[in-house]
Amino acid sequence: MHPVSGLTARTAVLSAVMVGVTLAAIVLALNTFAKYREAVGYLADRQAQVLVTTSRLLQQSEGMVASTAMLLLADDHLARRQAMFEIADRKEWIGRLVEDLAEFRKAPEQFDAIYDARDRLVANLETLDALVEERIDLRLQLERQALPDVPTLAQLARVESGIAEVIRAARTLTTELSVAVGFHLAAAREEAQQRVRSLADETQRSAWLLKASGLAALLAVLATVLFIQRSVVGRLSRLELALRCERPRPEEIDVQGRDEIAKVARTVHRYVDRINHNEQRILTINRELDFLASHDALTRLHNRRYFERALAEGAESLLAGDYCAAMIDIDHFKLVNDLHGHAVGDRVIVQVAALIRDGLPDGALLARYGGEEFAALLPGVDMEAAHECLERIRQRVADTPTLVEVGEVAVTVSIGLAPRLPTGGFEHSLKAADESLYLAKRRGRNRLVLRPPRATDPSAETP
Ligand code: GH3
Ligand code: MG
Ligand code: MG
Repeated sequence: MHPVSGLTARTAVLSAVMVGVTLAAIVLALNTFAKYREAVGYLADRQAQVLVTTSRLLQQSEGMVASTAMLLLADDHLARRQAMFEIADRKEWIGRLVEDLAEFRKAPEQFDAIYDARDRLVANLETLDALVEERIDLRLQLERQALPDVPTLAQLARVESGIAEVIRAARTLTTELSVAVGFHLAAAREEAQQRVRSLADETQRSAWLLKASGLAALLAVLATVLFIQRSVVGRLSRLELALRCERPRPEEIDVQGRDEIAKVARTVHRYVDRINHNEQRILTINRELDFLASHDALTRLHNRRYFERALAEGAESLLAGDYCAAMIDIDHFKLVNDLHGHAVGDRVIVQVAALIRDGLPDGALLARYGGEEFAALLPGVDMEAAHECLERIRQRVADTPTLVEVGEVAVTVSIGLAPRLPTGGFEHSLKAADESLYLAKRRGRNRLVLRPPRATDPSAETP
């Protein structure tokens, strides 16, 4: 069998295509939603943390400037140590925040610039601390002197200029640190934007794919509907139309194809064919039964029942004028059966019946009256014409042997003929004909005996 010839197989393939396309669309949609969730989570959680961390980092690096000012303004060692303590604390914070940032952004090598700027700034502030310490000591020394010592003053001026230089360097380093942190802040922002852009691209691609899947599902549904319309509904409608009429014709049933509907159509076709065939047979049998009700099956002549009924029903027209009655009997027919068998006997009866029928004039009523005996009514025929006609028949039978396998079977007939009698009707004429037939037999057979016009007259006879 063809792999996808059946309706079940084709429907299964189409359904599988529809299910496949629908599942693909669902998977695609779920995938897109998952990416959306991931991106939103990323933006809401990690990216926000990155932004917070970089902001705090920026805060700490700016705080470093404030600590530098505190250190610069320190006029005793306690204030100086407090400023340095704060600077160490900020250095520690910057370190930790950079580590956090490195963990989020997965690119630690990018943070060397921050570490480097921070370390150089701290080293610079330590230099500043040393200079501030020296300045505090020199100022104390000068305060203790009544007259300011010139070398000490010169020393203080050197220290002040050193401090100014370190402050300038510190400003530069602070800017470097802010720039390095700002770079990461910008990079984090750029990363987030990049992420959103790629998500938008992916979403657009997914949207296209979803549209394509939707279109494919629609086409699959259309194909299924068309298939069902063409291969199922249309064919069933045609089948129903072909069967709707009173007498369905097998040739109008479409039996093409190998699927289930084609199988049903073929079964219906066979069924309708059989019904039609049986109907024909029944009609033929009925015709035959009708025929046999009034005819003899062997000779196809009317039977005795019909003969008698026809005489009774059509007496007025059949028996209105002159007529003759005749009885014809095959001679020594028993011998034929005994010598040649019953089948040959049948053929002889059939041939003799045909010769009698062909020899009688139109309008004559002929019937097989008994086994090898025939009765005839010749309406409108006088005795002379009837005699002539029946004599021809007798002669013809005697001259026409029946051809059988073993050769020829010759028979003769004896005939009794009677006219219309003044009294008694057709039955009397037929009885008289039968009596004449009896005489014909007695006188040697193969002859025709006429019933004499008067009962006392001796019967006429031929030959
Ligand atoms: P007869 O000359 O006196 O009429 O002699 P017969 O032998 O013809 O007459 P009989 O009445 O003795 O025999 C008639 C036979 O015809 C007997 C019967 O078996 C046979 N017969 C009757 N009907 C049929 C038939 O339909 N077919 C055949 N083969 N024989 C039949
Ligand atoms: Mg006989
Ligand atoms: Mg007989």
